[in-house]
Amino acid sequence: MTVRVRYAPSPTGLLHVGGARTALFNWAWARRHEGAFVLRIEDTDKERSTEESERSILEAMQWLGMEWDEGPGVEGPFGPYRQSERDGRHQELCARLLEEGKAYRCFCEAERLTALREEQMAKKENPRYDGRCRDLSPEEVAERTAAGEPSTVRFRVPEGETRFTDHVRGDVVFQNKEVDDWVMLRSDGSPTYNFVVVCDDADMEITHVLRGEEHLVNTPKQVLLYEALGLSAPEFGHLPLMLGSDKKKLSKRTGHTSVQVYRDLGYPRDAVVNFLCLQGWALDGETEVFSVDELIKNFEVRDVSKGGAVFDPEKFLWLAGEYLREEEPAVCAAHCAPYVIEAGLMTAEELDARNEWFVDVVRGMQERVRLYSELPEKIAFLFEGDEGIAYAQTS
Ligand code: GLU
Repeated sequence: MTVRVRYAPSPTGLLHVGGARTALFNWAWARRHEGAFVLRIEDTDKERSTEESERSILEAMQWLGMEWDEGPGVEGPFGPYRQSERDGRHQELCARLLEEGKAYRCFCEAERLTALREEQMAKKENPRYDGRCRDLSPEEVAERTAAGEPSTVRFRVPEGETRFTDHVRGDVVFQNKEVDDWVMLRSDGSPTYNFVVVCDDADMEITHVLRGEEHLVNTPKQVLLYEALGLSAPEFGHLPLMLGSDKKKLSKRTGHTSVQVYRDLGYPRDAVVNFLCLQGWALDGETEVFSVDELIKNFEVRDVSKGGAVFDPEKFLWLAGEYLREEEPAVCAAHCAPYVIEAGLMTAEELDARNEWFVDVVRGMQERVRLYSELPEKIAFLFEGDEGIAYAQTS
């Protein structure tokens, strides 16, 4: 079996560090097994998806060094790779499920569903659809539809229990009665995430779905849908939540959450990759600094931890310093240059003209900075007092 994995971001913001870790683990798994790493843009939420976000996610992925084998810009045999462009296929599969009675039209209005939910919650019951439209006759459905009554399409959850194997969490069993008859298509005809993700993963022949633990609640719905479509489900691996220092889901409260911010703050790229991989995976339990090659050679989904991974900003800084120190001075100088220019210490032309001097300065400072952006402050004294003396003397 050829391994085919995907990273499927919704383009609704910058690349989140949690998303980047998911992408990295998928990418490493694909590379390890010489499989395909697919990038699929899940842009069905038209209100929140933006082209700008898509662009910035792709750019951040490239910066991290994750080339995708199939996806926007590269294309491939299973395209298109933007979910919104696959709508015809989604509608086709929905129609098939309706015809086979594995899905049904629901005419319940939002007000009724809200009241139902409130009533159930007041009784301390789990809110769920009560099945009012589950067994409407085909004639009634046809009549109401022809009369222009709006409807959603719900998945008909069968009786019984369902199992799946999760590479991180082991065997998972759930009772189907715990799964609601969930909505596949909204009344405006737009499909929901649980429906399209299965359509696309199946059509793209995805073999392993590695994604954040927040999606574990969705997996039963998705496994049941694979069964309804007569397909075998891919293998799953749910990656532990990334937690902030307050042990709650990582959020802006306890630190930056987007990859771009760390890039702009001057974290070495390989340090970012290394640090993100440490959020839930370890090379051997001891080695904290490892290369991308070592990651690819050793990455095992089975070894990913179940428990939440605490994002430790101090450790991130330490790791950044480890990488920065190892860089060739000329390379490090090139990385630091934009920050020196931005701080107004030197112009791009001056840096060009005094490159050798600047590389020497950086060589002398590498032990003392952790981020490229920390250099200007450390070398500002060279530019103080008599304008340009220290600088002129060395030339
Ligand atoms: N678009 C979903 C997300 O960004 C993908 C989830 C999945 O990998 O199934 O969370």
